Amino acid sequence: MSYILVTNDDGVHSPGLAALADAAARIAPVVIVAPDRNRSAVGHALTLYAPLRAEELRPGVFAVDGTPTDCVNLGVHGLVEGTPQLVVSGINSGANLGDDITYSGTVSAALEAALMGYPALAFSLNSRIFEVEALSAATGVAETLMRAVLQHGLPPDTFLNINIPLEKIKGICLTRQGKRRYSDDIVQKTDPRGRSYYWIGGGVGSFEDQPGTDCHAVNAGLVSVTPLTTGLTNHAAFAQIEAWNLSLPQV
Ligand code: MN
Repeated sequence: MSYILVTNDDGVHSPGLAALADAAARIAPVVIVAPDRNRSAVGHALTLYAPLRAEELRPGVFAVDGTPTDCVNLGVHGLVEGTPQLVVSGINSGANLGDDITYSGTVSAALEAALMGYPALAFSLNSRIFEVEALSAATGVAETLMRAVLQHGLPPDTFLNINIPLEKIKGICLTRQGKRRYSDDIVQKTDPRGRSYYWIGGGVGSFEDQPGTDCHAVNAGLVSVTPLTTGLTNHAAFAQIEAWNLSLPQV
């Protein structure tokens, strides 16, 4: 069987996952393999030192007590016969713009699929709350992009990070990864036993409003499509670092 593998990082019960699975089901058979709970911001983590359990909630719908990257591995190699024609992740509750990509379990699931050589897309909605109208519009965007990728294919080592605005969609554009400005507030409080604890990410962040970036596009009401690559090498840095003339002491 050739299927579309659907996963996310918000957990198997997320309305965003259901919406993406609905869009995928208009195209091909769907297999859902998703975390059994919210695993947002686990990045590309892989579970290597604990067993993984997968519960089949309904035919073709698996809840895994692991990360999005675990889910892609099980969805591709372990749980069903055949191979996916496409791997999609989302629709995430909240945008994955700029630096967010490095923390995102949603985007990392697509990265994992791309590393395995499968065409992959990550979808995020620029809202923490799934309003019915916005989710319906996002579902249409997802179907369009899935069909486009299946028709045209993607360049090697490439996957797509797609962010969808909450308000009425004005269009779609290709973007580069922008730059977030996170709030650097760390909330420090005291627990009932008198020990300090800390909470990261409590404040409201912003972004650098550079034209051509994912942040700028979504803020302007456009669907942002950022082609990402699986390689992190900064080729432009070679000349500068070569000029250091690095050498090790003779022993
Ligand atoms: Mn999430």
